[in-house]
Amino acid sequence: MTIPIEHLLNIPGIRVLSVKYDEHKITCQIESTQGYSICHTCGRKATEFHEHGQELELRHLPLCGRQVILRLRPKRYRCLYCEGAVTTTERADWYEMPKPVVAKPTRNSSYSNWSMAHFKRSLRSTASLTMSCAVCSNAP
Ligand SMILES: [Zn+2]
Repeated sequence: MTIPIEHLLNIPGIRVLSVKYDEHKITCQIESTQGYSICHTCGRKATEFHEHGQELELRHLPLCGRQVILRLRPKRYRCLYCEGAVTTTERADWYEMPKPVVAKPTRNSSYSNWSMAHFKRSLRSTASLTMSCAVCSNAP
């Protein structure tokens, strides 16, 4: 019996484009099948595809002892109701968008202190998958 990887991931509105794996991790390149975003200016559906955003690396729950990484390039859509080229990146409720990292060295801090603070902020801003894997959750 073959089980499609989409069933194992159990995430609505995605398509798995490719899967790579080794003894430690499974990496899935995925894309959204949502087809729109909500315009950040007017709140209506933006449906004209504009471009792909920066790739996100999302961590799912482990599967069969392997770390599961999802790579997603969120799509940006242009709103046809707003004037100008208003574009908005799609979102889904199963992951959080990373927060912008704003870190600048102060006059009193050394570069190494600033680097460590920047590194910690980067870790905090890494997107994380909030949805649990149904297969792992049901495992005995
Ligand atoms: Zn709009």
